[in-house]
Amino acid sequence: MSDSSRRALAVLGATGSIGRSTLDVVARNPERFDVVALAANRDVDGLYKQILQFKPRYAVMADSASAAALEGQLKSADIQVEVLAGPQALVDIAQLDSVDTVMAAIVGAAGLPSALAAAQAGKRLLLANKESLVVAGQLLMDAVVASGCELLPIDSEHNAVFQCWPHGGASAKQVRRILLTASGGPFREWTVEQMAAATPEQAVAHPNWSMGAKISVDSASMMNKGLEVIEACWLFNCQHQQVDVVVHPKSIVHSMVEYIDGSVLAELGHPDMRTPIAHAMAWPERVESGVGLFDLTQAGALEFFPPDEVRFPCLRLAREASDACGAAPAALNAANEIAVELFLNRKVGFSKIAEIVETVLNAKAWATEQHDSLAALLEVDREARALATQTAEKITLSV
Ligand code: NDP
Repeated sequence: MSDSSRRALAVLGATGSIGRSTLDVVARNPERFDVVALAANRDVDGLYKQILQFKPRYAVMADSASAAALEGQLKSADIQVEVLAGPQALVDIAQLDSVDTVMAAIVGAAGLPSALAAAQAGKRLLLANKESLVVAGQLLMDAVVASGCELLPIDSEHNAVFQCWPHGGASAKQVRRILLTASGGPFREWTVEQMAAATPEQAVAHPNWSMGAKISVDSASMMNKGLEVIEACWLFNCQHQQVDVVVHPKSIVHSMVEYIDGSVLAELGHPDMRTPIAHAMAWPERVESGVGLFDLTQAGALEFFPPDEVRFPCLRLAREASDACGAAPAALNAANEIAVELFLNRKVGFSKIAEIVETVLNAKAWATEQHDSLAALLEVDREARALATQTAEKITLSV
């Protein structure tokens, strides 16, 4: 194996579900990957254990008190790692000369500045943090083009589309549409009344995928699929009308691309994020991911249904934000992050998530707000969060 095939990684969001799966793939392929930097927010013990195993040169904790605690723990064990603290440190490690590949797996808009920094620095950007593209799609894609960054999607649906996409000569004009599959989440067959009484425990109990709490709630509300429609538009340079959603409860077909001649290409496999992660990490080669043999004879019937935008209004709201464009998707994302957090903290009911997002989206003409810089988008994010919080307070008072 030549040295040029070794990749030097910074894993942002290392202690999360995607971060842990990434490090699992690294551990299976030590001849291919070096871990230069690991980053998290507050999980000191989780990051400490990863440092012992992967021996990075840098460790970042966005939360300063947690960084101090980690530094103390490392010093007492006489482990030499440079510990950095705060959001700017995330940006700095995404741009290190000694890093060539950045796994952007921080959850939410908090992951945007570091993902953008990696794109600007021309790194291979493994993008799990879909919120970056929803909030700042134009900015991020402009940075990718300007720096020659290799942007590879980690989201299983977009990774599947990427694998079915016409690379090398064939034109994207020959694509008729993208078909994103959606599991339908834990509430796929629930009534509106049942969903109104849903608990956080029920919402995070995803039937197929094991994921962090925020994306699990997004899956339950189908906002996740809405965010993914917007993500697909940026990644594959198309309009949301060319991105159809189809509910496929088993999550075996990870997504499809339909061509103008009627061919439909699909990527199939176990619902295990190590497959798209390993694909993107080694691309254009393949490495072992730890995912076992896929036995089609055991898969049973593969069923597909149209999505229900009445019971799951978040999908419609995301398409409306995509139509409005400008800063509207950033406002949608911010309102959703606040609403999901309030739901997880039992401050509002599950059905209020869509209500809060819709109220914020309709509160002002977001599309015309300035959105051509990171600072402008972060201001939109801040304002939409404040409006979402106020909306939730009104809802709580009126109950
Ligand atoms: P988790 O909640 O499991 O992990 C989130 C990670 O981000 C943790 O390492 C956490 O650190 C870190 N983090 C949280 N807030 C901050 C912050 N302000 N600054 C720095 N780090 C922070 O999330 P997931 O792994 O499930 O998801 C990560 C991203 O990947 C999301 O954007 C999600 O949509 C996307 N994704 C996830 C999939 C999945 O299967 N999980 C599938 C496809 C996409 P700490 O542990 O210290 O809190």
